[in-house]
Amino acid sequence: RSNAEKFEFQAEVSRLMDIIINSLYSNKDIFLRELISNASDALDKIRFLSLTDKDILGEGDNAKLDIQIKLDKEKKILSIRDRGIGMTKEDLVKNLGTIAKSGTSAFVEKMQTSGDLNLIGQFGVGFYSVYLVADYVEVISKNNDDKQYVWESKADGAFAISEDTWNEPLGRGTEIRLHLKEEAGEYLEEFKLKELVKRYSEFINFPIYIWASKEVDVEVPADEDESSDEDDSTESSSKEESEDEDADKDEDEEKKPKTKTVKETTYEWELLNDVKAIWLRSPKEVTEEEYTKFYHSLAKDFSNEKPLSWSHFTAEGDVEFKAVLYVPPKAPHDLYESYYSSNKSNLKLYVRRVFISDEFDELLPKYLSFLKGLVDSDSLPLNVSREMLQQHSSLKTIKKKLIRKALDMIRRLADEDPDESTDKEKKEMSSDIDEKKGQYTKFWNEFGKSIKLGIIEDATNRNRLAKLLRFESSKSEGKLTSLDQYISRMKAGQKDIFYITGTSKEQLENSPFLERLKKKNFEVIYFTDPVDEYLMQYLMDYEDKKFQNVSKEGLKLGKDTKDKELKESFKDLTKWWKNSLSKDNVDDVKISDRLDNTPCVVVTSKFGWSANMERIMQSQTL
Ligand code: ADP
Ligand code: MG
Repeated sequence: RSNAEKFEFQAEVSRLMDIIINSLYSNKDIFLRELISNASDALDKIRFLSLTDKDILGEGDNAKLDIQIKLDKEKKILSIRDRGIGMTKEDLVKNLGTIAKSGTSAFVEKMQTSGDLNLIGQFGVGFYSVYLVADYVEVISKNNDDKQYVWESKADGAFAISEDTWNEPLGRGTEIRLHLKEEAGEYLEEFKLKELVKRYSEFINFPIYIWASKEVDVEVPADEDESSDEDDSTESSSKEESEDEDADKDEDEEKKPKTKTVKETTYEWELLNDVKAIWLRSPKEVTEEEYTKFYHSLAKDFSNEKPLSWSHFTAEGDVEFKAVLYVPPKAPHDLYESYYSSNKSNLKLYVRRVFISDEFDELLPKYLSFLKGLVDSDSLPLNVSREMLQQHSSLKTIKKKLIRKALDMIRRLADEDPDESTDKEKKEMSSDIDEKKGQYTKFWNEFGKSIKLGIIEDATNRNRLAKLLRFESSKSEGKLTSLDQYISRMKAGQKDIFYITGTSKEQLENSPFLERLKKKNFEVIYFTDPVDEYLMQYLMDYEDKKFQNVSKEGLKLGKDTKDKELKESFKDLTKWWKNSLSKDNVDDVKISDRLDNTPCVVVTSKFGWSANMERIMQSQTL
C-alpha cells in the first residue's frame, strides 16, 4: 500500500512470533480467548473514561459496548471486533510490536523449555497467539484521538501501519482480521467458535455475539420461478421481511393455493454469553465448576488446575462491597521479583459493576499480592478520577476486611487438610477428605515465603500469620509442623520455643548447639530459608512463649543446681581464656550447659547477628 509505513518488531517479539508461527502446539484454541480478553479490556477502558465524560461513547451503534465475531468462509477470514477504546497510530506501534513487555523474554524462555503456550496471557503477550492460526493479520483500529489505521503483519519480522482509506469506518474500537492458515479451517465453523467462547470466555462482562447463520422456512408459490427465490435469499433478511412475504402470499392463496416451503439462510447476531456477574450471585447458587472457570478467566490462568481455595463474601456496614478472592494453584513466575520496588496487585476493583482498575495497591498489602480476585463496591464514588479514588477513606476499611477474609481462607486450607490434623479430627472430617489431603503443604510450598513476609510487614496480623507458619524441626520427622503443634509437644517446665537457623536441615541436625537439647529431648525448630533470619527479628513471641535461638546467649534448659558450683570451679579457666582472646574477638567466656560432646562453641550475643545472618549479609541473598 502506498501510504504504508514499515516497522521492525522488537527482537524479543520477533523471536516470540517465530516460535508461535512455527509451533506444533496442539491447543491452538487459545488465541480466541486472548483476543476476546483484549477486547474486553478495551471496553473496560472506554467505559471507565465515560464515567467522567459521557460524550466519549458517541451515539447509536458506537455506544454499544459489545464484542462481535464474524466469519468469512470464502476468504478464510475470522474477525473479532470491539467498540472499545481503540488504538491511535502511536498505540499500534507501541503495543503491537516495538516495545517488548517485561514478560516477553521470560515467556520465550519458558516456551522453549516447556513448549506450553497456555500461559501466554499471563505474560502480557497474548495478542501474538493469533499467529498460531493465522499467517497474516490485520488490526484495524480507531481511537477517539486519531484517525483510523490498519496495522498488518505476516510475522516476518516486520509490520506496516497505514492510514485506513479503504475499509468501512469503525466509529471507534478495533477489528482484528485473521487470515487463517490452511490447516486452521476449523475456526471458520460457527459451532467451533461458539464452543470456544462458552468454554473460555463465559465470564466476560460484555456481550459476545457471533454472526450466525440460520435456516428458516419460507413459503413461496409453487409455480414461481426458482431463480427469483435465490435473489431473495442472497442478502440477509430479518424475520419481518419473510413474514410480510408470507402475508402477501396468504392473500393470493385463495386463488392460487399451490405453495411450497423452501429453506433459506439468514444471518443474525447471536448472543453467546450470560453477562450476569458471578460475584453478584449468592454463593449458594454458584457451583464449584463456575468458581473454577471464573478463576481461570480472571487470572488468565488456563493451566486447568483448580484454585487452591476461594472466598466469596459480602461486606456490610459503613462500607459495602462484594468480593471473590482466590488462592491460585501456583505462584506466578515473578512473584518475588522486585518485590519491594513494584506493587503487582492482582485484585480488580469495580465500583457498582463498572471495572475501574487492576492496579490499585490500596486493596491488599504486598505480601498478599499472590491472591487473585475482585472487589465490587457500592460505597465508592463512580465519577471521580482514579487518583481521587485511590485516596478514598473507604479503601482502608475494605483493605482491612479483605486481609481478614484472606487469612481466614488460608487458615481454612490448613483446617480442612487431613494431613494437618490429629487422627481424632480426621474421623470427623467431611467426605472430600482425599481431595483436601496435602493442600496446605502445597500452599506452603508455593506461598510460604509470603506468609513470612507478612509476619515481617504486618504487625497487626502477626499472630494470625504466625499460626500459618510451617517448618521442620528436630521432631517433625521430615514433615512440616506448626507452632501450635510445637507447643502441644513442649516438655513440662519448658518456657521458650527453641529454634536454630542455618543453610540446610542436614547442617543443623549435626550442629553442636543441639547436643544437649536433643539429649534432654527438647524440640528445636529448623529455619533454613534466608528470609527466616529477618522473620525472627520480628517474631518475638507466640502465645506468651518467647523464641530462643539456641545458638545465641541466654539459652536456659531448666534449673541446674550444679550451675553455681561449676561456675566457681572453672572461674580461673574462663578468666584466663577471656583475657587471652582480644576484646574484639569475644565479649565473654562462660560455662554452659548446652553442649554434650563438643568441648566449646561460639555463641552469638542476644542482640547480635547469628552466624547464619552474618553469612547471609555477606552474600546478600534475600
Ligand atoms: P495484554 O493484554 O496482557 O496487555 P496483549 O499482547 O494481549 O497483552 O495485548 C497487547 C496490548 O495491545 C494491550 O495491552 C493493548 O494495549 C493493545 N490491544 C490489544 N488488543 C486491543 C484491542 N482490541 N483494543 C485496544 N487495544 C488493544
Ligand atoms: Mg491480552
